[in-house]
Amino acid sequence: MTDFWLRNFLNNLILLNFMMYRTHLAFGLLAGLIAINYFNTNKYIFIAAVLFGSIFADIDESGSYIGKRTGFLSWAIEFLFGHRGIFHSLLLASLLFLGFVAFGYVVLGAGFLVGYVSHLIADALTVGGVRMFYPFSKHVIRGFIRTDGLLERIFFILVLFAIVYNVIKTGF
Ligand SMILES: [Zn+2]
Repeated sequence: MTDFWLRNFLNNLILLNFMMYRTHLAFGLLAGLIAINYFNTNKYIFIAAVLFGSIFADIDESGSYIGKRTGFLSWAIEFLFGHRGIFHSLLLASLLFLGFVAFGYVVLGAGFLVGYVSHLIADALTVGGVRMFYPFSKHVIRGFIRTDGLLERIFFILVLFAIVYNVIKTGF
């Protein structure tokens, strides 16, 4: 376990194995603006849930934006599950969605799921990659974007343009 944790820590240190939270928020917002067209519901609540879902997965990384704000909980999750393990899988995204549904919060759950999946897709574009189908498959889906590198900045700006385009085109 210690070895696993250490390797994980070093890996994060070297690759900066995650995207900036602002990129996740922006990409999540874009996904939410597209998805909202398919839901006849309160836009603001839906988008709020999307934004929360878009950064929640990084709770398994204590140095991340949400990790720093959840303290011990994040540290415990990172220690137990590792960064980009089960918390970066479609399985957990689906289970959390079902959790929302079980309590009757279908719209919140749907928004959260959209945000969560957008997070996984964005992480799949990074060098560190993501094991989206964990634990069924340990295959790492990866791209070539480095955290806070030039490509991530370009990606971030393109997403902002897409958001503006979307708002102008469909309104909000
Ligand atoms: Zn992540």
